[in-house]
Amino acid sequence: MQALIRQLLADLGEDPTREGLVNTPKRVEKALKFLTSGYDANIDEVLNGALFTVDYNEMVIVKDVDFYSLCEHHLLPFFGKCHVAYIPTTKVIGLSKIPRLVDVFSRRLQVQERLTNQIANTIRDTIQPMGVAVVMEATHLCMSMRGVEKQNSFAVTSAMLGTFRSDPRTRSEFLELIKLRAATVSARDMSASPTLACVTE
Ligand SMILES: [Zn+2]
Repeated sequence: MQALIRQLLADLGEDPTREGLVNTPKRVEKALKFLTSGYDANIDEVLNGALFTVDYNEMVIVKDVDFYSLCEHHLLPFFGKCHVAYIPTTKVIGLSKIPRLVDVFSRRLQVQERLTNQIANTIRDTIQPMGVAVVMEATHLCMSMRGVEKQNSFAVTSAMLGTFRSDPRTRSEFLELIKLRAATVSARDMSASPTLACVTE
C-alpha cells in the first residue's frame, strides 16, 4: 500500500521524497487500516457477553453516539451523531456495546443509508426486539469541502423496523426524544431532500 501512496503523491504533482512527505505513505497506510478495521471485526465477538435477559419492555435509547466513516465514492470522511433505540422482548444489549457496534460498521467504506440499515438489522437479528430505530445525522466532507450541493452536505438517514415502523406513536416518541439536535442543526437542510448527491460527481 505504501508504494501506491508514494505513486499517488507523485501523480498529484508532489515530491514524495521531500522531508514532510517521506513518512506519509507509512502514516496513510496505518490510518486507512484503522479507518477500515471494521471489516475484520466479528460482531458476535463484539457483542459477546453483553446480551442480558431482562423483564423489561420499555424503549431503550442510546443517543448522540459520535461516529466517523468514509464515503465509498470519494474516500472522504462523513461524520456526525447516531441515535439508536429498541424495545426489547427478552434480551437487551449492554449499553456500552451500542457505540462499539456503530464503530464496527462505520470503520468501513460506506454510504450513510447502508450504514444506518446495517446497525438496525444487526440489533434486530441479535436480540429480536419488538422494534429498532436508528437515525444518523452527518456532515459529508465530499460535499462540503468540494462546494458541491453545500446546502445538502448535512444528511439525515433513518431505519425503522418492527413497532417503530408500524406504530406512529412509538416512532414519534423516539423522534421526540432525539429531535433536539437534529431539529436545530438541520431544520434548513432537512427541508431539502436529503439525497446523498456525491455519487454522481
Ligand atoms: Zn462522497
